[in-house]
This record gives sequence, structure tokens and C-alpha cells, in this order.
Amino acid sequence: MQELNVTIWNEFRHEKTDERVKELYPDGMHAVIGHAMENHGFRVRTATLDEPDHGLTDDVLAQTDVLIWWGHKAHHEVQDDIVERVYRQVMAGMGLVVLHSGHYSKLFKKLMGTTCSLRWREVGERERIWVINPGHPIAAGLDHYFDIPATEMYGEHFDIPTPDELVLISWFEGGEVFRSGCCFYRGNGKIFYFRPGHETHPIYHQGEVQQVIANGVRWAAPINGPAYRYSNK
Ligand code: ZN
Repeated sequence: MQELNVTIWNEFRHEKTDERVKELYPDGMHAVIGHAMENHGFRVRTATLDEPDHGLTDDVLAQTDVLIWWGHKAHHEVQDDIVERVYRQVMAGMGLVVLHSGHYSKLFKKLMGTTCSLRWREVGERERIWVINPGHPIAAGLDHYFDIPATEMYGEHFDIPTPDELVLISWFEGGEVFRSGCCFYRGNGKIFYFRPGHETHPIYHQGEVQQVIANGVRWAAPINGPAYRYSNK
């Protein structure tokens, strides 16, 4: 089986300024996610906001089968030309896994065409993530549900287009529900949105979370078919 090339993009700002986040992710969330993806058999590289071109040069994107995206407080600092470059790569077939607050990235909003707004609350409550599509590849290896002991709540309504496939929904201790594992097809590309991952909790250290991200990478990987030619015959 072909080894997939995964690029993990992280804003990498909270880890430098917030003591709690630094303690959980001393080398950045991308390092922890990267190590987990290597353990799942992928070839991994990382890219961060403060690198030239945010680390997302044409060469890097050309060598990327699936891009994982984490951003939060600096969405506005992501250059529009880089967003356009990544967008085109997704439309051409590169897979994209968008994590947590990446829902508000320029890239995700452009791909969805909606505000991608939602409700949230930060009190460290429990989340239960239910598998509602057990035959889907992203559910591979998961039980009926798994819990995240303490997290930030995201609640409906989540202003996204109706997902092409919905794999996971969350329940929160405060009573809210949320569409936490959503699949979309755009052009030749596949996009998986996965909700968990607030930076002040050790969520990316959790095995089930890593399993879902790895499953999302496998699902979103390009099929590398022949380039489609649009013509009048
Ligand atoms: Zn958050």
C-alpha cells in the first residue's frame, strides 16, 4: 500500500504564549499530532504560520496527499494568496482534515461558502462523541462512542452546508449537541471536519482522537485517478 504524505499545518501561537498550552504541547500541537500520525503509518511533515509562505509552498503542497489544519486566533494573518493556493490544491484532489477552531479559518469558510459560525462555552465539561455511521471508514476501530473528559463545548447551530456524510455527533454535559465529524466533497477533493481539540486540554494526546484523525486522513486521501477533461463531446 502506498505510504501517504501528510502535512500538518498549525498556527503555533498559543503554545508560545500560554503556559498551560506550552505544558501540554511543548513542541506544538503539530508535533503531538505528527507523532501520532507517524505511529499510524503516515509520512509526516509540518508547517506553521510564521514560516515563509506559512510553510505551504507549491512544492510542499505538491508533495502532500492530505493536509491537516489547526488554527484559532490568527486566522486573519493567513495570506489570501496562500488560502487560494491551498483551496486550488483541494479542488484538484488533495485531502483536507480541518480540526476544531479551524472551522473559522479562511480556507474552510471558502470551501463551505457559509459563515461556519457556532456556539461555544469554555468550562471544561465532558463530551461524548457518538458514532452514527458505523460502516463509514472514519469509524474504523471505534466503539459506539468515546468520551473526552474535559473540553470546550461547541453547540448547534453550526452554520455549514448539510454534510455529504455525517459520521460523528457530540453530546455535552451542558445539554448541547454538535455535528462533530462531517465529510464534504469539493471538486476532486475530500474534506473532513473533526471538532475536538481545544488547546488547553490534552485532547490530541487521546488515542481515540488520534484514531479518528488517522481515519480521516485515509478517507480524504486522493484516489489519483486520471485528470478529468471537461469538453463539449
Ligand atoms: Zn477552542
